[in-house]
Amino acid sequence: MQVYIVKNAGFCAGVKRALNMAEKTADEPGTWHSLGPLVHNAAVIDYLKDRGINPVDDLKLLKDKNSGIIIRSHGVGSDIIKTAGGMGIKIIDATCPLVSKVHKTVQFLLQEDYEIFIFGDINHPEVIGILGWCDNKATVINEISQTNNLDKYRKIALVSQTTKDEEKFYEIARALCTKAEEVRIFNTICSATRKRVEQTLEICRQVDMMLVIGDKQSSNTATLTKECLGTGVKTIQIENAEEIEMQWFAGVSKAGITAGASTPDWIIKEVLDRMTAYDEKENQELNQATEEQEVQQNQESEPANDLQSEVVEDQGVQNQEESFATMEAEMADIASPGKGDVIKGTVVQVNDDEVMVDVGGKSEGLIPLREISSQEVNSAREIVQVGDEIEVLVLKWDDDGNILLSKKKVDTKRAMDKLEDVFNEGRTVLGKVTGSVKGGLLVDIGITSFLPASHIGDGYVKNLEEYIGREMEFNIIEFNRNKRRGSQVVISRKELAEEEKRQKREEFWNSIETGQIRLGKVKRIIDYGAFLDLGGYEGLLHISELDYRRIPHPSDVLTEGEEIEVYILGVDREKDRVSLSRKKLMKSPWEVVMDKYSEGEIIKGKVVRTATFGAFIEVEPGVDGLVHISQLADYRVDKPENVVEVGQEVNVKILSIDNEQKRISLSIKEAQVDVEAQEVEEYLQKQDDMTEETGGEAVEPEVVEINETEEVAEISEPDDKETEEVAEISEANDNETEEVAEMTEPVDSEESTSPEESTPSE
Ligand code: SF4
Repeated sequence: MQVYIVKNAGFCAGVKRALNMAEKTADEPGTWHSLGPLVHNAAVIDYLKDRGINPVDDLKLLKDKNSGIIIRSHGVGSDIIKTAGGMGIKIIDATCPLVSKVHKTVQFLLQEDYEIFIFGDINHPEVIGILGWCDNKATVINEISQTNNLDKYRKIALVSQTTKDEEKFYEIARALCTKAEEVRIFNTICSATRKRVEQTLEICRQVDMMLVIGDKQSSNTATLTKECLGTGVKTIQIENAEEIEMQWFAGVSKAGITAGASTPDWIIKEVLDRMTAYDEKENQELNQATEEQEVQQNQESEPANDLQSEVVEDQGVQNQEESFATMEAEMADIASPGKGDVIKGTVVQVNDDEVMVDVGGKSEGLIPLREISSQEVNSAREIVQVGDEIEVLVLKWDDDGNILLSKKKVDTKRAMDKLEDVFNEGRTVLGKVTGSVKGGLLVDIGITSFLPASHIGDGYVKNLEEYIGREMEFNIIEFNRNKRRGSQVVISRKELAEEEKRQKREEFWNSIETGQIRLGKVKRIIDYGAFLDLGGYEGLLHISELDYRRIPHPSDVLTEGEEIEVYILGVDREKDRVSLSRKKLMKSPWEVVMDKYSEGEIIKGKVVRTATFGAFIEVEPGVDGLVHISQLADYRVDKPENVVEVGQEVNVKILSIDNEQKRISLSIKEAQVDVEAQEVEEYLQKQDDMTEETGGEAVEPEVVEINETEEVAEISEPDDKETEEVAEISEANDNETEEVAEMTEPVDSEESTSPEESTPSE
């Protein structure tokens, strides 16, 4: 069951003020009495009696010289005050300032010779008091019919008992307008009464049942009960919580509470406690309390009705009303903050788990950690500091008289107000992604809102986590304060992302040109290439444009997410196509060859194919050189396959590089000669080194086959120097051979030479 409390239920500011004055007076010396019951509530009267304040109806009953009287908020006639003064009785005047103003008004009207009319109950103490301020020279009207037989007057003025019905007041005012040449209307009806009735009717429209709390003697409580019953809602009037019967609430999902001006807060609280024991959904009451406050604020800002406007034209009345408003504001200041009120306070102490706030009254306000912020915080120190001025919502009063406050609810309400404007005006809002949940992200935009996964961007989002911590702009696509489940605010980036994409695309097409080098991010790899994000455009880099080499699969050279440079081969906006190349930015294999190799160099290569005229050797990936059949071996070769086979790795000598024809000719035969010459040279160098190490003495020679010496002699194309060297080598070898011959079997030179190796030695 949800329970709605009428914001202005209970004591009005005037009654509160009178009660406060009475409580203070009780501590003063003397015997104190109230002139008539201070309020129409037996419980309050009993409480005051306990404090030594007894009501009396007649001054004559006060015998004690030390007696004093407290004049209640209704006020009394000036004659009573004069009489009491004459009797030496101390007077505490707790007349409500709004009632005092009526007294002064009628006094003035009497002096100005107006025929005074008072709209009110002739027996009500307030009316009796008002009459006392105009020498009882006023006519009291309570019904419109009483205006029918009135004579014509020159000047008429109308005031009202402060607690009367405003609609009826204006009816009577209209009737009086026909009864005199000059009519002045003073709307002296107190807004507290009007607001209480209005708010009670507002609540009646939302609930299944109303409880009206107030004394059976209280006329304004009786009025409230009558108004509630008039709406057709089930209404029960009670004096206190003990009268409540739980069966009243069977089948009631929403109940309302209102109370007359003489009902103290503690009785309302007891009734509420009894009802919340029936159903503990207190948070819903708080929400309602806040909403009621909004209703009140809205009502306050509404323009006055037509008749009021007419009356305001009277300058005297206008001033009067302004004065009343000022007084009302003053009285609001002295009132204690009530449940659902939003008030300002100063932080006086901050602990990890709570904050103490000075809210200007006798009691301290406490904000527990959970009511500090809508964000999760570990300590209240993260949010407020001593000396901060903050706005807080009054949640409730605890048993020690402390006020339980919430900063979170005020902040949330303020944030919701702003977001509602943003939503209605179609503006965007800045937010920070704070976490992920099933189906989307949580974003802090003043309150925690929900961003569905399908609204994060203009496409599918694989990894929600990567967005956490990012700040972005959002559109509000759903705003519902009354939503009880799920987020009240749902946001989206979809349209914004689409617009950003459109703008980027436009910028891309305005700037792209053939021949440019652009940076692209690899978005997707497919079998025949990869899609690159070029900033506003997603283009295909075909596998054939990846490299000069043959690439089995694009993933062999690219990874998703990496950024690479690409060359713009061509642009066709009409067909929405941009041709890209990666290999255009690489050196061609021929360029590599030109940089890396030179003629005469011996390199390793792989036989890739053979032909009748020779064999092709891969020098670099993409560049094959030709070994002509005549260059395959140092003997006559019939078929290349007799000397080399595909896949074999061979040494080749670069005979020539033809840059124009992009041809390279190679020789295995010459490479062999050079390699062998190199080996001999290395051998001799080794010999020299050994001689130096032994100081020129003869060293044990290595065994060298005599036919090798012959081969060296055969392949050497000697210049003069080389001839000499070869001769020396031959001589040395002959010597060695002789030495070796002594140790080994003689070698038959005929046998060491094969028929194919028929090149004659010199
Ligand atoms: S005039 Fe208004 S505030 Fe004053 S006592 Fe009457 S109802 Fe209360």
